[in-house]
Amino acid sequence: MADQTYEWTVVHSENKLPAAEREAILDAPVFGTKFTDHQVVVTWEQGKGWHSPSVIPYGPILMDPAAAVLHYGQEIFEGIKAYRHQDGSIWTFRPEMNALRLQKSAHRLALPEVPVEIFVESLRQLIAVDGDWVPQPVNEKTLYIRPFEIAAETFLGVRPAQRAEYRVIASPVGPYFTGGVKPVKIWIALDSARAGRHGTGEAKTGGNYAASLLAQSEGYDNGCSQVLFLDAESATYIEELGGMNLFFVYRDGHVATPWPRRHNLARYHP
Ligand SMILES: *Cc1c(COP(=O)(O)O)cnc(C)c1O
Repeated sequence: MADQTYEWTVVHSENKLPAAEREAILDAPVFGTKFTDHQVVVTWEQGKGWHSPSVIPYGPILMDPAAAVLHYGQEIFEGIKAYRHQDGSIWTFRPEMNALRLQKSAHRLALPEVPVEIFVESLRQLIAVDGDWVPQPVNEKTLYIRPFEIAAETFLGVRPAQRAEYRVIASPVGPYFTGGVKPVKIWIALDSARAGRHGTGEAKTGGNYAASLLAQSEGYDNGCSQVLFLDAESATYIEELGGMNLFFVYRDGHVATPWPRRHNLARYHP
């Protein structure tokens, strides 16, 4: 239950992409390259809390070069899809769970937690103006929604920022595996770790990805399409792929889940 109701402001874009151009994009979407006509922005300030939830035209962020996020990486994000059903209606899958995961990430990165109510409403508000960007339900096409939060305070000191911004953008996407699911080659990173004990591995923060890119290019250079990280402590247990989870199903039907679940651990045998 909300102890506070938020009044949303909607500023419609005067520069919307013409329908024909939008349809051409929805015909053959390329992941993460084209964005809808609007974005959500909600601001948080120390002592004031979350305020001014708004939908505004999509466009660049005007930001001071001394904004904290640009220096110390206080940033977190989520990913969730909007699906169109055959009857034309638009759905997401249990968005409260993404809201809670964003809160967990916020806690770890010392950012303010976006209330679940604002998170869920932000998806509704964006879809209300950009619903035409949700593709028809063919060939696994969906609208990928990217909620994220950044430290927006202008300050070079090392401490949690006293001003933050929550934003939501969206981009039409096609199937993850084009041309069906085919086996892929995986590169095992032996001299690079993604997450250490009590580190930020469980938070969805950009820095984790930044730290994985070197090993990923090593993988690409060696003809692999994904990189696999081992546990940082012993470099023995299978941990996860650069951009997704993994688990093993053995011939006898048992399932091995990754470190650090400590349950049927999958071991790397050099
Ligand atoms: C987001 C993310 C995933 C995928 O999680 P979903 O629940 O599918 O969104 C897997 N691994 C990492 C490192 C991630 O950041």
